[in-house]
Amino acid sequence: MPASAVVNQRGPFFGSGSFGSFSSTSRAGRALAILHEVAHLIKVATFVEIDKHGGSKVSDMWLIPEDGGKSDLSRENSAWVEAHCRDQLKALK
Ligand SMILES: [Zn+2]
Repeated sequence: MPASAVVNQRGPFFGSGSFGSFSSTSRAGRALAILHEVAHLIKVATFVEIDKHGGSKVSDMWLIPEDGGKSDLSRENSAWVEAHCRDQLKALK
């Protein structure tokens, strides 16, 4: 887990917009944005595929899939995180 993070001052974290069903500048919206990024760092499995020639391929599965440049998938990922953290996010004032 990284000890620090950089937030783009020109992005929605400080501007208008939304994260999931929350305003992007609300505490819940900002928390959702951070949880979304943290979810990208949580590895849930490592697969080793061995083919019939003995070659192998290793791949990792993350809590949410990589979504760089894919806004629809990014929104799906945020919705997934929000669904799993909804009560905690709504409790933020
Ligand atoms: Zn993402």
